[in-house]
Amino acid sequence: MISHLLFRSNTFQQKPNHVLLKSYSSQLDLKYIKGIIKNEIASYKSPIGDDLYREPLVAVASSHDPLFFKLKKIVHDKHLMPNDIVPHAKSVISFFLPFSKKVNKSNKADKILPSELWLKMYTETNHLREIIGIRVAQILEAHNYRSSTITRKQTFDESTLTSQWSHKHVAYIAGLGTFGKNHQIITKSGCVGRLQSVITTLELKPTKRPDHEYCLAKSGRECTACIRACPNSLLNTSEFDKFACYNRLRKNKLYFEKKGNLPKLVCGKCSTNLPCSLKNPI
Ligand code: SF4
Ligand code: SF4
Repeated sequence: MISHLLFRSNTFQQKPNHVLLKSYSSQLDLKYIKGIIKNEIASYKSPIGDDLYREPLVAVASSHDPLFFKLKKIVHDKHLMPNDIVPHAKSVISFFLPFSKKVNKSNKADKILPSELWLKMYTETNHLREIIGIRVAQILEAHNYRSSTITRKQTFDESTLTSQWSHKHVAYIAGLGTFGKNHQIITKSGCVGRLQSVITTLELKPTKRPDHEYCLAKSGRECTACIRACPNSLLNTSEFDKFACYNRLRKNKLYFEKKGNLPKLVCGKCSTNLPCSLKNPI
């Protein structure tokens, strides 16, 4: 098991900036956390351009939510519990950075290859979401609440394609949305974007989970858009073949390497330009 010390030592390389605390309200609640995230996005100077993100979504789960215990069975047996990362954790904050309409639309140009904008956004947001997670944790630490975020490098095993922390499942537990047939979390702002989690000893009020499915097919309506969008036809079976999906990503990577572009494992056809990409379609 990964020690929580690993997360903490890598996460808090900088001392918490107490000046930052003055920028936010004194009440440590969901609004406060959202303010930090919005502020980070607003102050982020992206080399890609403007108009890349929509309003972030934030939700909270109690670290004692019984659903966390099911993750070892549903995701895999090495999935971490909030207390493995932050001892005596009280809450898990899950946030979603939804991509803009422009980014979503860009991934339509080719039926198989991702657009360059999509590729860059995906890669850059993987970095940004961790920066924001670290900043949220730093600010909560400065208020004397032990806090940490999760980085992909620390939890993802490329040989088994498993992660010790599933941001998607955590987002579901926190009530950010529901799983679609495309295996993405559909939020009220759709599924195009990236998720991140912060674990903290601060006790926050848990968010209520949705009381209905957000996916059209899962709610009994006609929709096969994600199935048709997958270039490898991987979404029309009950068992998702993650290795076949990864092969597709590797082919994309090879293509972009040859072009001298950013060599990244990206596809995104099963989350872009669908009825659930930018909104809850129900
Ligand atoms: S495209 Fe349709 S079936 Fe697929 S996840 Fe979205 S709503 Fe569900
Ligand atoms: S990422 Fe691409 S290959 Fe994988 S399931 Fe989605 S559309 Fe299919």
